[in-house]
Amino acid sequence: MNLTLILGPMKSGKSFDLISRFAHLKYAKIPFGLFNSARNVRDKQIFSRNGGLELEARKVGSLSEIDASKFKIIGIDEVHMFDERDSLAVERFLRQGVDVVASGLDLDYQGRLFGIIERLLELGPKEIRYRQAVCEKCQSTEAVYTQIFKDGQAVLSGLPPVVPEDGSYEYKPLCRRCFVKDIKV
Ligand SMILES: [Zn+2]
Repeated sequence: MNLTLILGPMKSGKSFDLISRFAHLKYAKIPFGLFNSARNVRDKQIFSRNGGLELEARKVGSLSEIDASKFKIIGIDEVHMFDERDSLAVERFLRQGVDVVASGLDLDYQGRLFGIIERLLELGPKEIRYRQAVCEKCQSTEAVYTQIFKDGQAVLSGLPPVVPEDGSYEYKPLCRRCFVKDIKV
């Protein structure tokens, strides 16, 4: 019935934070489900690239596919990859008395909130953890944005809705001094 959000840029340890909340549940008799987006083709099973800790997540195309009645707590990784309307499923889980912990990017490549993150913030989360990463340009520990590069250039607009995962686009966490915004946005 409570919502927890773990937000921040790439490589800020969000997934690690998420799974550390679930690891001990494996040994308790608390039914939980972990999910991530079928759009995420990069990660086969799960989750944290911090190494070590791994839990298996089920890939779903939409959060509405989840039968929440089986769980006491639901974890969602890379929640920004889901459609904005999937927030309705999260709202339903919470009403059913299920706790939800969701992690993901809060801001897109233009520094704007993802639609689903806006909707989740409107559900009155009990806790929001904002994580920061190391800026890959100046090495400060205050990266809050994720910039996307193509051929070494920051992509400021016109990104295709489905970004090819063939390595032609590169994602980097950057601090507010290094992040470049399209001033027209
Ligand atoms: Zn920087």
